[in-house]
Amino acid sequence: MKAAMLAAVVVLAGAGGQQGKGLEIHWIDVEGGAATLIVAPSGESILMDCGWPDKRDAERIQKAAAAAGVKQIDHYLTSHWHIDHWGGVAELSGLLNIGTFYDHGFPDASAKDVDAKLKEAYLKACGGKNVVLKPGDSLPLKDKSLSVRILSGHGLVPGEKAGAAQIRKCAANPEHPAKPDDTSDNARSLGFVLSWGMFDFLDLGDLTWNVEHKLVCPENLTGKVDVYQVSHHGLAQSNSPALLRAVEPTVAVINNGATKGGEAAVYKLLKELPGLKDAWQVHRNVKTTPADNAPAELTANDEEKCQGAGLKLTVGPEGRSFTVEAPSKGTKREYASK
Ligand SMILES: [Zn+2]
Repeated sequence: MKAAMLAAVVVLAGAGGQQGKGLEIHWIDVEGGAATLIVAPSGESILMDCGWPDKRDAERIQKAAAAAGVKQIDHYLTSHWHIDHWGGVAELSGLLNIGTFYDHGFPDASAKDVDAKLKEAYLKACGGKNVVLKPGDSLPLKDKSLSVRILSGHGLVPGEKAGAAQIRKCAANPEHPAKPDDTSDNARSLGFVLSWGMFDFLDLGDLTWNVEHKLVCPENLTGKVDVYQVSHHGLAQSNSPALLRAVEPTVAVINNGATKGGEAAVYKLLKELPGLKDAWQVHRNVKTTPADNAPAELTANDEEKCQGAGLKLTVGPEGRSFTVEAPSKGTKREYASK
């Protein structure tokens, strides 16, 4: 798999792709929501989630996109139907052209956590043409050097049929027992693994414990990755030890807010992972101690009242190495891919 991807990267460069321009990932600060912008070497763009309602987050996304040379969002994914992930969809679609809208599908009417007004705004923005992604699907990208494979959606993982139970009994992991059934839309989050050459990035939205567990037991369907966007803004309802140990990230990025996510228990689990070099944070968690937070130089925003600084990742040729930076701190660190 990796060899094939590597060959594709080399072919692209040889065919006159933008040599020297690597893959980029931008974590835009949406204050405890999510907005992750991915720019392929060809310039093709993917945005997972668009932050909270009102113009602040949409404008931050527009600004980050412009700085990255992105003129339109080619592929927009809503991980799940919570306001911190798709709240800004009407505002954003007024500021930037969006190509295709993807999601996990709307749950039945008994789901209480899907805002009817936001649903209306979303369907209006996409002209009713949203595309439902299922575990095992790949995003139809033009840039064939890149793959984005869907790992979770609507509570399922690859290989499962609709209606499969959220809790899977798995003898291989008795030390991480199931939690009570999560009936919220978090459990239905879309999640994906992106691969470019040797580089792999995992973003599971706000996926929670029981479905995480199905991803790694009895079989590890995520594989080991270089960079892990810490699920659910770093809340302990997600990020089960079973998942973190299977994924073995080199770098973790926590897209938390000053008072949301970035929980001490999750930071501790991350720091205990043997392969983890650094955890970066979009915000310092102002409710915990310095020991429970990433060092200041790896944290984009120190205070609750902030300028909305983000984090940026650039992947080098063939995905062999990658650099993470906090431009607000002038910090830049390079890591080798696995
Ligand atoms: Zn969230």
